[in-house]
Amino acid sequence: MKSQEVRSKFLSFFEGKKHTIVPSAPMVLKDDPTLMFVNSGMAPFKEYFLGNAEPKSNRIADTQKCLRVSGKHNDLEEVGYDTYHHTLFEMLGNWSFGDYFKEEAIAWAWELLTEVYGIDKDILYVTVFEGDEGDGTEMDTEAYDYWKKHISEDRILKGNKKDNFWEMGDQGPCGPCSEIHVDIRSAEEKSKIDGKDLVNMDHPQVVEIWNLVFMQYNRKANGSLETLPNKHIDTGMGFERLCMVLQGVQSNYDTDVFTPLIREIETITGKDYDKNEKVDIAIRVISDHVRAVAFSIADGQLPSNTGAGYVIRRILRRAVRYGFTFLDKKEPFIYRLVDVLSKKMGKAFPELKSQKQLIENVIKEEEQSFLRTLEQGLILLNRIVEEAKGDTVSGEKAFELYDTYGFPIDLTSLILGEKGLKLDEEGFNKELQKQKDRSRAASEMSTDDWTVLEDDAEQEFIGYDALEANVKITRYRKVTSKKEGDMYQLVFNLTPFYAEGGGQVGDKGYLENSRGDVVYILDTKKENNVIIHFTKNLPKDLNQTFKAAVDVKQRYRTECNHTATHLLHQALREILGTHVEQKGSAVHSKYLRFDFSHFSKLTVDELRDVENFVNARIDGKLPLEEKRNIPMEEAVAEGAMALFGEKYGDTVRAIRFGQSIELCGGTHVKNTSDIWHFKIVSEGAVAAGIRRIEAITNDAVKDFYHENNRAYFEMKDLLNNAKEPVKALQSLQDENASLRKQIEALLKDKAKHIKGELKGELIDVNGVQFLAKKVDLDAAGIKDVAFELGSQFDNLFLLLGAEQKGKALLSCYISKALVTDKDLNAGQVVRELGKFIQGGGGGQPFFATAGGKKPEGIEEALREAKAYLN
Ligand code: ATP
Ligand code: MG
Repeated sequence: MKSQEVRSKFLSFFEGKKHTIVPSAPMVLKDDPTLMFVNSGMAPFKEYFLGNAEPKSNRIADTQKCLRVSGKHNDLEEVGYDTYHHTLFEMLGNWSFGDYFKEEAIAWAWELLTEVYGIDKDILYVTVFEGDEGDGTEMDTEAYDYWKKHISEDRILKGNKKDNFWEMGDQGPCGPCSEIHVDIRSAEEKSKIDGKDLVNMDHPQVVEIWNLVFMQYNRKANGSLETLPNKHIDTGMGFERLCMVLQGVQSNYDTDVFTPLIREIETITGKDYDKNEKVDIAIRVISDHVRAVAFSIADGQLPSNTGAGYVIRRILRRAVRYGFTFLDKKEPFIYRLVDVLSKKMGKAFPELKSQKQLIENVIKEEEQSFLRTLEQGLILLNRIVEEAKGDTVSGEKAFELYDTYGFPIDLTSLILGEKGLKLDEEGFNKELQKQKDRSRAASEMSTDDWTVLEDDAEQEFIGYDALEANVKITRYRKVTSKKEGDMYQLVFNLTPFYAEGGGQVGDKGYLENSRGDVVYILDTKKENNVIIHFTKNLPKDLNQTFKAAVDVKQRYRTECNHTATHLLHQALREILGTHVEQKGSAVHSKYLRFDFSHFSKLTVDELRDVENFVNARIDGKLPLEEKRNIPMEEAVAEGAMALFGEKYGDTVRAIRFGQSIELCGGTHVKNTSDIWHFKIVSEGAVAAGIRRIEAITNDAVKDFYHENNRAYFEMKDLLNNAKEPVKALQSLQDENASLRKQIEALLKDKAKHIKGELKGELIDVNGVQFLAKKVDLDAAGIKDVAFELGSQFDNLFLLLGAEQKGKALLSCYISKALVTDKDLNAGQVVRELGKFIQGGGGGQPFFATAGGKKPEGIEEALREAKAYLN
């Protein structure tokens, strides 16, 4: 059965059981502080399990893109080594929100697997939860009894909390689960060891394919469980694993989900799959990772240096490095797999098709830049190897290479191994641990349970129409982190505060009680569809009614920037072309930032045209036309554009200013004339084919012009009120350049003179031409003198000190012959003598320089130099 059919059979089966079929949610989460990527089918439905929102149907089924590369579920290091864990995989799932429970979930799973897919009952095992003393939970006899109706009891196994109790995170909805495992070993293997004994034992042919989770508890902050009022079903079946079973193969990589990619890798690299274990691992890693990276980019998440972007970058780099080391690919090639991938999966996931070009460009550029890093790393590593004493390379050095240059540690030890050297792994791990501790300490956070004051599930947002309201606090909790200290999170029955989302920052403002006591609201964010207000202090008399007021000025400035962002988007598509797509947007009160796909730098003329386009619409006084709850199809028919990677409901909000129409949940000015003026302050590249514009509006533009004006008059003043300041500046620059030339010539003369002097002062110490002296030269001058003298002798030991602008400098030159014959090292000399000037430095064995804070120590350092020749 082809994978396409496997997927569609699942969906139509549950459609037949009255489930609503929904598309996969985006995999990269944009506005969820607790999770970076969707890591299971249930993640997009969290708000329903928590009771914060009503599902549109209480039976849902779908296939969901999942990524398990960070946080609680992280399979990254397994991927490639085994044959059934991926970074990105599809999870087929069916859900009941307070509707059917264990009986139906079990019966339907069985029906689908054995009757629809026709899987032989004799290769299936199921597990049930055995109970846990610590949690005070009993064995799940309910599930056991339902299973008994379908499968013989010797195939129902009991499992512990680790395998059979599913939790979303440290807190939140959770419950016992039943897993379904398959045993796809040969008859011969089966006769040797009973399949029962291999379930949950990491055997590659006895694997879990489906997990049925029975959500019946909520885990509280103190670790205890409470029973949920509504019980839910959450199931997840690994699509690639199911394909493996139905296609009668022994590895996910031998299914038609992966074979086209693997064939392409073979063609490009000239290496064969299934011949050599190391090569196989590399091919699996690459065929897996290209999927994860391509899907993320299509979802709008580009590789970067922070957060989700950094995770994506690391996945891609892992793939590059396996290609580099085991497939001998020293030039970019992974981007060439995108074509095959989009042909294979483009039907189910059209974003792969429409964004193909962009995905290829971004991957190619990332590959190029990481390959450069690898090359540089190799040079540095060679130097480390040259300087190594004995047969072990220090863990600190390897860590520096890893941390500063991103050079992978396994590659370091591999190369060292080839050269007969060892890596001090313990030292490396120590450094790594130190770094981890530092970042953990910085991000450690504890979250208390909510204290509920009033039961009110339906919180209302009124901030499109009002900036002030009388509100009641319905619940609150304390959150403690190292960075922010204690903070409180408050939820109201209704709120005018806009929560960070769609690129727009959250509102600030205050809460005031009837006596005039004020508590400031520092930020507003959404978590699982609940609007949360952040305060430093808890208001007194929590049960009172409060006035909640949004900071009007900040909101207004933010709105100017948000509306301007829409106009900018329109301008770019109009002026540059419709290939321009939004790739990221940040709307602050002080500025706006907009990332978009475009292949080249904007010219000065284009930038001016864009500014003029936007300003013409500001001058045109276009009114805001808002449609708050219209069906998605209607908005699209009017010309609104849906963005990939955004999660839209069935009804959407459409924002229109003239011809600009966008689906948008943000807040806007009532009329474009409110923006006053729009000004681009920078334009640049963020990645291959992605440009970034930063711009300002309104007050910020006024400040910008005032500031420029002030700088202009100050400059003019400095130029003695020159009539033409630009010309005056130009002539100053010319004069400066010619003076610099003269000085350089004079310094050269001086150095020559000093060189002559120094040559006369050399003394013979044990057959070495030696001199240690303080000179009046800068670092470059010293280097010149040392190298010139060095070219005249082959047994020179020179230590020169100098004082420059209150700082100390020590440079040491040792002829190469002495370096080898007498085991001298200039780097070591300046490092050791550096202590006299309270400084440090280094360089090569024949020339090195140290800088320090204590010029008074120079003489002492010079006195010590002779000792090296004894
Ligand atoms: P395993 O023990 O095999 O890692 P799991 O217990 O982590 O599985 P669940 O979290 O229950 O798995 O996820 C539900 C289903 O998703 C599993 O039964 C499996 O078929 C599939 N699955 C889980 N992790 C992966 C992965 N990394 N790659 C592919 N499929 C996966
Ligand atoms: Mg797992």
